[in-house]
Amino acid sequence: MVRLITQNLLSCPSRACAYPTNFPLSFRNVTKLEMVEADFNEEFLRGVLSRLEWQALRKSAAELGNTDLPEQSPDLTRPEAIPLDLLKSLHHVLLEIVVADGEMVCPQCEHVYRIKDSIPNMLLAEHEIRR
Ligand SMILES: [Zn+2]
Repeated sequence: MVRLITQNLLSCPSRACAYPTNFPLSFRNVTKLEMVEADFNEEFLRGVLSRLEWQALRKSAAELGNTDLPEQSPDLTRPEAIPLDLLKSLHHVLLEIVVADGEMVCPQCEHVYRIKDSIPNMLLAEHEIRR
């Protein structure tokens, strides 16, 4: 399943590309979004916050039509201090929005990763694979 919690940890795996310019993959031509209700798990969410890239997450969420996240990043190094209402927004953005059909595009090499039936095709041609 392509959810923002996984997309936010994903950069283009092509050997022509390197972090940070191969991140985040942009959503394009999204023709099917699904809202999947997930159980709210506060402890899990607070645990995952320190690994998030806030501005990338905001940008990707906006590409999917969600503008709930504030521009100013909360202090992700102090997850215990993040207010519950923001945590609830994050829960929705990270876990409940599923891209069922569309594309993710590398901002560096512009390789298109197709998403079909919620499954991303991350395969590259042989010469593109990083060793
Ligand atoms: Zn790339």
